[in-house]
Order: sequence, then C-alpha cells, then structure tokens
Amino acid sequence: MKRFEGQVALVTGAGHGIGRATALRFAAEGASVVIVDRDEASSIAVAQEIKAAGQNGLPIRADVSSTDDIQQMIALTMQHFGKLNVMFNNAGIGGISHTIMEMPEQDWDDVIAVNLRGIFLSCKYGVPALIQSGGGAIVNMGSSTAGWDVLPDSAHYMASKEGISGLTKSLALQVARYNIRVNAICPGIIKTPLSYGQNTDAREADKYFERFTQRIPLRRIGMPEDVASAVAFLASADAQYITGSLLLIDGGQTLQSWSNAPEADAYPKDPV
Ligand code: NAD
Repeated sequence: MKRFEGQVALVTGAGHGIGRATALRFAAEGASVVIVDRDEASSIAVAQEIKAAGQNGLPIRADVSSTDDIQQMIALTMQHFGKLNVMFNNAGIGGISHTIMEMPEQDWDDVIAVNLRGIFLSCKYGVPALIQSGGGAIVNMGSSTAGWDVLPDSAHYMASKEGISGLTKSLALQVARYNIRVNAICPGIIKTPLSYGQNTDAREADKYFERFTQRIPLRRIGMPEDVASAVAFLASADAQYITGSLLLIDGGQTLQSWSNAPEADAYPKDPV
C-alpha cells in the first residue's frame, strides 16, 4: 500500500520505539517523513534508514515541551517540504512511579510538560501548517490508561493521558471545518523501553513482558509495528470519516477488569 505518496508526515519521538516504527511505516507507504526527537542522534539514524530505503527523511532535534523548538520544527518542515499533511504527536515519557504523597512536584511537571503540553504545542503550531496545506490528519498518542487501565502510583502519567483524550475531541470539533481530522490512539502494553523502564531493570525485560503475555487475551505483547499500522490507518484516507475517536490497541488487555491483578492464571480457562 502507498497511501501517503506525495504527502509529508511528521512524527515526534520518532527516534525510538513506537515513533520510529511509525516513521518507517509512513515512509514505506510513500511519505516524506519529518523525524523529530530530543535525542538528535536517534532521529538522524532513523532518517538515514528512510533515505536508504529511497524516501525523504528530515531529522529535527526538538524537545516537544519547548515552544521555541516546536515553532522551529514546523518552520523547518514548511521550509524544507512546503507542506504538512500528517502529524503523529507521539513523544512521551513514563515518569517514575510514586504515591501521591511522595511524588516530587518536578516529576509531575515533567510528565505533564512532555506528554500533554507537548501535544498541545504540536497542535497549536501544527494546525496552521495543516490548514495551509489544504487539510490533513492528526493522530495523538494517548494510552489505555486514558479511561480503561489504571496504573497505581502514576497519577501524573494517567492525568497526562486522560488530558489528551479531551484535547483530541475538542480540537477535532474545532478543525473539522478545515478538513483536518484529529484522533487519538490508546495502546496497552507495547514492547519498548518506556513500558519496562520504570518498573524493572533492562536485563529483566523479557521476564517482565512474559508475565504480561499470560494475561493478554491475544496471548502476546503488543509490538511498535502493531501501533504503527493503526496510526497509518487513522492518518490515511481509509479513515476519512473518522474524527474525534479514541482507538484502543491492546490485544484485549483491558477486557478483563482484573487485568492489573498479579495472578497470571486469572485468564479464563480454555473452553475445550
Ligand atoms: P520510547 O521511550 O521507546 O520512545 C519515546 C521517544 O520519545 C524516544 O525516542 C525519546 O527520545 C522521545 N522523547 C521523549 N521525550 C521527548 C521530548 N520531550 N521531546 C522530544 N522527544 C522526546 O517509548 P514508546 O513506548 O515508543 O512511547 C511513545 C509514546 O507511546 C509515549 O507517549 C508513551 O506514553 C506512549 N505509550 C506507550 C506504551 C508502551 O507500553 N510502550 C503504551 C501506551 C502509550
């Protein structure tokens, strides 16, 4: 499929994980891709991968919580490509788990600044570029914790992701008249450093994911590519009548109200 031939797609947090997989997916479907990350080396590496595959990739170093960086990100995109058709506002951090009493105010501010203010800024400065380009699609990164799952001791992360749901719906209503669709995706646990980083040592990652696998009805951990294909769908003309929606991508993880319970055998027994 080449659903993005001739289009320009911008992805934040595109140096690693879900953002990287989605940038590669957009490129594979014909887009020129703007690869934004605060880790400059990783955005350059992804741009090189995209160029090696014969597509255009523009790496930009930006911290999504910075107004100056986001203004510059949009200005560079418009200077380089002359248009912007798709934005995947994905950059985010997990934050360190704390009870509310022990949560340092700085940790709260950091998570809200990247996960929520970052998406606000990308939309604030990206929407005029989309309008100038004749419309387009925005996909915001939410989470299954925005209404389905509950993480104990992560009030900052949950608040940031719930905020994205509200922002997405409000903006969708506001910009529909400009032919801009705005949706959010809400993944469950996906195999990236972010999902185990705050809970366990990298060397223990496989064991950590194995425990989850047994509790997910589709019996596997989500991969960045599972999310990338859903983002590509929502950003494409295949989703041309979808706006203001929140798409859960979790292998059935949140179908069980006891999904946070520690018992691995909580999943119903096989019927045969
Ligand atoms: P990741 O850590 O693999 O990748 C995140 C990327 O964002 C990194 O390249 C990092 O450098 C970049 N980044 C972080 N802060 C930034 C900032 N201020 N400015 C610019 N770039 C920044 O993590 P991931 O799992 O791919 O997470 C991507 C998004 O998916 C996050 O918003 C996360 O909350 C969300 N999400 C992840 C999961 C999961 O289980 N992994 C589940 C639901 C939602």
